[in-house]
Amino acid sequence: MDFDFDDSERAFQDTLRRYALEQLAPDYARWDHGEAVPRERIRAFAELGVTGLRVPEIYGGVGGSYVMAGIAAEEIARGDHNFTMYLQLGAISADLIGQYAEQRVKLKILPGIASGETLVSFGLTEPGAGSDAASIKTRATLDGDEWVVNGEKASITMAGYADYCVVFARVGAAGAKGIGAIVVPLDAPGVTRRVYDSMGGKLTGRGSLFFDNVRVPRDHQLGADKSGFAQAMEAFDYNRAIIALACIGTAQQSLDETVEFAKQRHTFGKPLARHEGYAFQIAEHSTQLHAARLLAYQTLWLRDRGRPHTREAAMVKWLAPRAAVEAIHGCMVLNGWMGYDNSMPYAQRLRDVIGLEIGDGTPEIMKGVVAREIFGREYISYR
Ligand SMILES: Cc1cc2nc3c(=O)[nH]c(=O)nc-3n(C[C@H](O)[C@H](O)[C@H](O)COP(=O)(O)OP(=O)(O)OC[C@H]3O[C@@H](n4cnc5c(N)ncnc54)[C@H](O)[C@@H]3O)c2cc1C
Repeated sequence: MDFDFDDSERAFQDTLRRYALEQLAPDYARWDHGEAVPRERIRAFAELGVTGLRVPEIYGGVGGSYVMAGIAAEEIARGDHNFTMYLQLGAISADLIGQYAEQRVKLKILPGIASGETLVSFGLTEPGAGSDAASIKTRATLDGDEWVVNGEKASITMAGYADYCVVFARVGAAGAKGIGAIVVPLDAPGVTRRVYDSMGGKLTGRGSLFFDNVRVPRDHQLGADKSGFAQAMEAFDYNRAIIALACIGTAQQSLDETVEFAKQRHTFGKPLARHEGYAFQIAEHSTQLHAARLLAYQTLWLRDRGRPHTREAAMVKWLAPRAAVEAIHGCMVLNGWMGYDNSMPYAQRLRDVIGLEIGDGTPEIMKGVVAREIFGREYISYR
C-alpha cells in the first residue's frame, strides 16, 4: 500500500497551491456578487493544465489521471472554491466527448476545453426531476440529419455563460433506458438562459437553460441512442470524489488559517491554541477532513485502475461536504467576531460549500446508493 503522491503529482500540487493562494484568493470576494470572470482569466487559469486535465494530449490536453484531477480540485479550492467548477466541468465534458463523440465534434470542442476558450455545462436536472433523474422530460427528436430539442434544464452550473451543454434528453420510452446525450451549442436559435440569485457560488452562473425547437446536427449525439443515463452516472461516479476534495480544500485552508490565528491570539494569558476546548475542535475537524480526504483519493485511485468505485464515491460525496461545512462553520466561530465579518472569507466559503451538499446528488440519495451497494438492488431505498 502506498499513500504517497509521486514526484510529478507533488510538483503539480505545489504549483497549484501557490497559484491558488497568490492568484485566486485575492479576488475570491470579488466574484461573490455575480460579476462574470473575464474569459482571459479563465484562459490564464487553463494554462496550468487544469481545464484540459482529462482532454487527451492529441487534442491539446494533459491526459492526466483522476488522482491528478483530485489534487487540482483540493488545491484550487484553497484559493477559490468556485474555480474548481472549470476543472470539474472541463473533466466531465472532456471524458464524455472524448469517449463518446464523433471525431468532428471532438476536434471542434476538445482543444477549446483544454485552452479555456470553450466552456461546456452538464444538463441533467429539470424543474420536475433532480434526484429522480431518470424521469426527465426534455425531449430530442430526429428530423432528418438534425436533433430537435425541447425542454428546460434547471440548476445548471455555468448556464449563464457556457458555450455548450451536454443535454440529457428523452429519445425513447420512459425511464433511464430512454435517455440520450446530445452536445447542444448554446448560441443556437431557440436557446435562452436565466441565471439564479444563488446563495453562494455566484461566479458559477447557475441557472436554467430553455430549449425551444433547438436544432442540433445529428452527429452531436454522444454514444449510442439511449445510453445517456449510463454516461451521466459514469461521470457522477468520479466527480463526486472531485467535489469532495474541492470541499476539503476550502475547509482545510480555513483550518490552516485558524491554526495560525490561534497561535497569535491570547485570551486568559495564553494563546488560544493552548486552550484545550479550542485546540480539540481543530483536532476533531482535522480528523474528519483527513478521513474524508483518504476516501476521496481512494475513490479516484480505484477509478484510475478501472475498478468499481460507485460506493466509495457516494460515501465521500455525503461525508466530505458535511465535514467541510462543519469545519468552516467551526472556524468562523473560532475566529470570534472577525470570523463573522465579510472581510474574512469564512461566510463566503460556507455559502459556497453548502451548494455542493446538494449538487451532483444530495446526502439522502448518496446514502441510498451506499445502502444499495451494501444490500443489493432488490433493497433499493430511494425508489
Ligand atoms: C450548486 C449546485 C450546482 C448544480 N449543478 C448542476 C449541474 O451543473 N447540472 C445538473 O444537471 N444539475 C445540477 N445541480 C442540481 C442537483 O444535481 C440537484 O439539485 C440534485 O440532484 C437534487 O435534485 P432536486 O434539487 O430536484 O431535489 P429533489 O430531488 O426534489 O429532492 C428534494 C429533497 O428531497 C430529498 N429526497 C429526494 N428523494 C428522496 C428519497 N427517495 N429519499 C429520501 N430523500 C429524498 C433530497 O435529498 C432533497 O433533500 C446543481 C445543484 C446545486 C445546488
